[in-house]
Amino acid sequence: MINSPSFYKVLSLVLTSLVSLLVFTCVGTEVNTSTTEADILAFHHSILTIDTHVDTPLRLKYEGIDLSQHHDPHEYNSKLDFPRMDKGGLDAVFFAIWTPQGARTDSGHSAIKQQALDILDLVETKISKLPQLAEIVTHSQDASRLQALGKHAIYLGLENGYPIGTDIQNVDLFYQRGIRYITLCHMTNNEICDSSNDTTEYGGLSPFGMEVIERMNQLGMMVDISHTSEATVEQAVAISRAPVIASHSCSKTMCDNPRNLSDSLLTLIAARGGVVQMCLLSDYITPDPLQEARDSVRAALKQKWRGIDRQSDMNREAYRLEWSELNRFFPRELPSVADAVDHIDHMVELVGIDHVGIGTDFDGGAALSDCFDVSELPNITRELFKRGYSKSDIRKIWSGNLMRVFTRVEQLAVTH
Ligand SMILES: [Zn+2]
Repeated sequence: MINSPSFYKVLSLVLTSLVSLLVFTCVGTEVNTSTTEADILAFHHSILTIDTHVDTPLRLKYEGIDLSQHHDPHEYNSKLDFPRMDKGGLDAVFFAIWTPQGARTDSGHSAIKQQALDILDLVETKISKLPQLAEIVTHSQDASRLQALGKHAIYLGLENGYPIGTDIQNVDLFYQRGIRYITLCHMTNNEICDSSNDTTEYGGLSPFGMEVIERMNQLGMMVDISHTSEATVEQAVAISRAPVIASHSCSKTMCDNPRNLSDSLLTLIAARGGVVQMCLLSDYITPDPLQEARDSVRAALKQKWRGIDRQSDMNREAYRLEWSELNRFFPRELPSVADAVDHIDHMVELVGIDHVGIGTDFDGGAALSDCFDVSELPNITRELFKRGYSKSDIRKIWSGNLMRVFTRVEQLAVTH
């Protein structure tokens, strides 16, 4: 019962009243740096919060997670369910419909399109069974409408345009199925563009990729440049009629990872009115201090088991056990909320408060030492208060900026 939405709504109201009383009695003005813990929680639970990137569909597919039940993230490979969203004051999310990338052939494209449609079916089935807790929604205004009803908004994004294949009509198909952003690619190039983690194939967008962006603009889908190469970002920003988003990306100046965005790209995205949603994946927040030692041991193990793919099942199992033992020996030291908020600070300093948001990548590998799942999201708000961000700033980071872009994308659409 303690995790029910109504409990947190009541808690939020009680805390808000208490804080207001304290403020008017003792101070007489809005609290800022001396904000109390009660005020932080009450404020966090009162504002609209949206996380633009969670891989929860994977947990639904592979672990059969029941979203109505509370899960211990140390026991289950799960970072999000509705009781934990309530505890963490998270109102709305974009579920990423992610598929692995295979052959770039007609049969490869049609197989993966079917897989994406199957995941959409699965998400629809699961959410439709919990109508009192959540709804799948498609319009920017739906999140605040559902927040008022004490329900969660589930938006849908397609992570990787690979299921679009080479058929522009698939953009319409996924729009009709509720998809409201497409991450143009994932870790490898596809028919749309070059990836940040692959070789240069087109030098940015392919001619088909440009068509895809044009159609997304017409329909009212957000163009998501996370995972794309620098040239792809530059070209996408230049040709998109609407501002673009990075649904889950950090700053390259703060952490030099090919997936992160350079200062010049951040500036470019902001100049066209876009938004960059900070991600909580360890390797994008801080460099791994143990990486060098771990990589040399990994290399030695690979050398020892050279040609393992062609060896017996028994040898492959022995290799697998040694590999997982090695990873246990070199656990990734998790960055903290303070490390993550350093990225927000940098982006805000560079491009201003209007172009930064949050897209955690929970259920896709994200975890911080003090924000291990969605239930601990108020720790980000606490850190922002600590650093002197105003309530208006924090509202923008948690939803205002993203909703401004989403609304603009809808306004610029010409076909529905
Ligand atoms: Zn991703």
